[in-house]
Amino acid sequence: MKIHHLNCGILHAPPGPKASCHCLLIEHEGRLVLVDTGIGLEDIKRPLERIGPFAIRAAGFQFHEELTAARQVAGLGFRVGDVTDIVLTHGDHDHVGGLADFPAAKVHVAAEELAQIESGNGRYSAAQFAHGPLWVVHGVSSERWFGLEARRMALVPGCDIYLVPLFGHTLGHCGVAVQVGERWLLHVGDAYYLKVELSMDDHPVSALAAMRAEDDGLRRASLAELRRLVKDNAAEVDLVGYHDFSEFPTGT
Ligand SMILES: [Zn+2]
Repeated sequence: MKIHHLNCGILHAPPGPKASCHCLLIEHEGRLVLVDTGIGLEDIKRPLERIGPFAIRAAGFQFHEELTAARQVAGLGFRVGDVTDIVLTHGDHDHVGGLADFPAAKVHVAAEELAQIESGNGRYSAAQFAHGPLWVVHGVSSERWFGLEARRMALVPGCDIYLVPLFGHTLGHCGVAVQVGERWLLHVGDAYYLKVELSMDDHPVSALAAMRAEDDGLRRASLAELRRLVKDNAAEVDLVGYHDFSEFPTGT
């Protein structure tokens, strides 16, 4: 199995730092699983309709066609149709923009998040889901992964991938845990914006994280769980977030 770390978009709203859209492309026996989808080709064609002027300005969306997951998948020599499954951490604009570029892929999401997306909650963009994603919904599980609830997704034979609820940023926000050899990679989505939040409470980005959280108490509890993982399980688990540019492995 191979994991490609793709930056599928840039957000920059000064004085905040430039933020990445860190997607994972999991390649296993000719099949591809994409974790989050970044800013997509349709967003670039119709940004005002799909994202809206307020969010574009507030988050500082930048539009670069070459960064879209569709173009990067092609650049790696794959066809768009090789992406059979997409796993979403949550439904925010900057995570789902590429969904429409992979219309044949199954889209895995936590039941709580899809309920929010379909509830008319104004933080989500109906236009980004208007193509009709092929949803696969994952509900509550009794399985545990390093003490956290884990929802097993049978995506690719011989490859363990779980949705790990890290609620708070949104009400169905999840991390995605992938077994890589002897270790695990946990993509934490937006459970932190910058990795420094694992060790600091008063970083300026923490105020933004609190403001953007649907439930800030749940967000803090999720962050506390990540801190526990780092303290107790660093030998087995690596974390990576979506928006921290410093987290791209060197050489990829
Ligand atoms: Zn985000």
